[in-house]
This record gives sequence, C-alpha cells and structure tokens, in this order.
Amino acid sequence: VKAHLSAIEAARGLNAYLLETPERALQMAGVADAKIASGEARPLEGLPLGVKDLFCTHGVATTAGSKILEGFQPHYESAVTHNLWRDGAVMLGKLNLDEFAMGSSNETSAYGDVVSPWRRAGSDTKLVPGGSSGGSAAAVAAHLCLGATATDTGGSIRQPAAFTGTVGIKPTYGRCSRWGTVAYASSLDQAGPIARTVRDCAILLGSMAGADSRDTTCADLPVPDFEAAVARGVKGLTIGIPKEYRVEGMSAEIQALWDKGAAMLKDAGATIREISLPHTRYALPAYYIVAPAEASSNLARYDGVRYGLRVPGKDIAGMYENTRAAGFGREVKRRIMIGTYVLSAGYYDAYYVRAQKIRTLIKRDFEEAYASGIDAILTPATPSAAFGIGEKGSGDPVEMYLQDVFTITVNMAGLPGISVPAGLDAQGLPLGLQLIGRPFDEETLFAAAQVIE
Ligand code: GLN
Repeated sequence: VKAHLSAIEAARGLNAYLLETPERALQMAGVADAKIASGEARPLEGLPLGVKDLFCTHGVATTAGSKILEGFQPHYESAVTHNLWRDGAVMLGKLNLDEFAMGSSNETSAYGDVVSPWRRAGSDTKLVPGGSSGGSAAAVAAHLCLGATATDTGGSIRQPAAFTGTVGIKPTYGRCSRWGTVAYASSLDQAGPIARTVRDCAILLGSMAGADSRDTTCADLPVPDFEAAVARGVKGLTIGIPKEYRVEGMSAEIQALWDKGAAMLKDAGATIREISLPHTRYALPAYYIVAPAEASSNLARYDGVRYGLRVPGKDIAGMYENTRAAGFGREVKRRIMIGTYVLSAGYYDAYYVRAQKIRTLIKRDFEEAYASGIDAILTPATPSAAFGIGEKGSGDPVEMYLQDVFTITVNMAGLPGISVPAGLDAQGLPLGLQLIGRPFDEETLFAAAQVIE
C-alpha cells in the first residue's frame, strides 16, 4: 500500500487519480495486517485498488467526473466497492473518468484529461488512455494500483483496457449490482474490473459480483469460482468469428491481430467457425438513441437541490437552469438534448421505439449463434490503437462514437465481454482482442482470454 501511495504521488502528471485517500488506505492496510497476523486473512486482504469515481464511496467525495457533483459526499457505499472492502481490499483513491462515463478518451472529464503512460515509439505525443474508465486503465497500466473498478455502458471497460495493454471484463448485465453506482444508461451499465492479468480480473470480479435485492436487475445467481476457470483451456470449444465485424476500412494490422488470436485458440484445441450477426451495423446508431434517452432521464435528478453544485437564480426554475448550465459539460448537454428529443411526443415512435426493436434483433442474432453451438465469439476490441489527446472528435462527435463499434453490441444484448492484450501495433502501442460469451458464462471468457494472453 505504501509503495503504491508513493507511486501515485510520483505520477500525478497522468491525472489518473481525482482524489487520493492515503489515510483511509493506511487505516485499511492496518486492519489487513492484523487479519493476516491472526490468521484470518480474507480473500483480497491488503490488495491496493483504485475506484472509478462513478462508484459512491461512504464519506469520500464522488464526482462522476462532473462539476455538478462538486462537494457531494455520499452517505452510502456502492454494492460493488462494499463487496471489495468486505473481502479485505484497500482503497487508494478515486479515479478520473469521462463526465458521467460519456466518452471514449477521458477528454470529457470536468477535471482534465488523463494521460496514458504509453507513448508511440520515438514520439512524445501524449496519448489518451481510452474512456470512459481512462483513469482506471491508466492507473493499472502505470502500476498505481493492482486493479481498479470500472464501468461499461458501451465499451468503457474494454476499450481503455485495449488502449493500455490491460485486461478488462464487462460481465453479463445483472452479474454485478448497480446499487450506489452513478447511473448513465441503466439498461446498459455494468461494473467490472480492469487489471493487469486475466487471473487478476477473475479474482476481482469474483468479489465484485453477487446478488443484491437493492438492484432489481441484479441476478439472483451464485458467483462461480472465476479464478478456477482461468486455467480451464479451450479444448472442445467452438469460437465464432462474426463476418460483419470485418468493417469497412479495417486496418491490415487489426485484421492480422484478429487472425493471430483465432490461430492461438485453434492451436489450443478450439474449433473456429465463421458466423453471421446480421444486425451488427445498426447497433451503434441504436445505442446513440437508447443511451442518451436513459441518460436524459437519469440526469434529471441533478437540479441543485439534492446533490453537489447549486447556482442561485431569480426563482426555482432559474436556479435549476443556472445549476445545470454551469454544472454539466458540453458532451453531457449534447446527450441530454438528444435523449430528450428522441423521447418527446411525435419522435418517440420514430426513434426510441425503433431503437428498442433493433436492440431485440441484435440480441436475437447472438442467441441464434449460441444456439448453433458457438461457445464464445472473437472480435477486435477497438478499430485502432490509442490516439493522441485532442486528435479525435473535436469537430465531429461521431468520430469518437465510432470507437465503440465492436463493443456496443455486447451491451445492447446484455452479454459478457472481455478485452485482452494481444500484441503491439507498428508504433509499439498495445492492441486488444475481445471475446463475447453466453449470458452468465464469464468462465469461458476467462479460459479463452488466458489462452490469448
Ligand atoms: N463511449 C460510449 C459513450 O460515450 C460508451 C461509454 C461507456 O461505456 N460508459 O456512450
């Protein structure tokens, strides 16, 4: 814990931590020492972790990367972080993220960009760590924690993991409780870990997951022994390669990485089969209707009364307006506008209802693939390696939205997905592959990811 606290101090230039909590960390480490000394060590005793600042932490400021939550100190602990502390883990601090988890590069945080510890060979251009869990990924990659909590609504665990050479898993929707996690799009949001190895991810998810009656969408299922699944191998499994993911303009490098991953699985005893997921190309546009719609509703609660920032106005409506105008950033305002529009009378059927229908079709594509005997699906995690800070999306937000083209289908269908480092590009930057599983079969993903890692 002490070594990590000094490493964090020395790496403040990365802006990965929004808040360091050294006193709490040392106090928790003291408890861990005592437990170990008395032979009562819990499963994660003393392991130093970072927490994405989207998880409410009791008595510790929680911002969601937004000015609107400035000064907010939850009087409760999120279910996921509670489970980690229950098992003996130690909190080092709260990690930077895109504002309300909306973004793919950590450039929408109200508290500044996160800088990736990676550089292109022979260049000092500062690169993004990906997003929205950019602080989590950068901190894990730079050894500023052993692992971190993260969340994924459309790719926010898997894309930053791919950009930083780390492992990240978005479990099945309902595997982790969403209770006490700041909501972005509730039907898509899932918590999961980012860590440096597949095994570390398996161990952390085993603690984070579990039934919780406070989240009605949380599955009432026992948590399997994920760690035991890591070494299981892929002999006898059938891995699907969806032809629709061979998107237009895919680089030769990404294609080669994908082929290499398939070959590794084949060498380890899996059968590789081409499959079709015909509605893939509608996933991104449908997501950018469903997610903003839910966000516009979830973010209505930030009115200057109950949480954080309040900017006075001449009457109560003026106070709402001033608070929201000052508290939300550009990207969040854009999503609220889109969401309100697609939910409004006259447009609801044309946009929101159609997007929901497309979502059902996407889910059905996966169900058919699994029914035909596919055990897991292999795809690239991202269309490219990490890009430079300021390089993408400033003129056209859609350029940034395209980052999630391979990850979003998984959230739309509620499936588990893992991103695992699979090689470096020509400039020496990490690239990741994604494995998508059957509902509640994270075990197969850990086993297959271990073969690629
Ligand atoms: N980049 C996507 C978005 O901005 C996904 C973010 C996420 O998974 N939280 O909506």
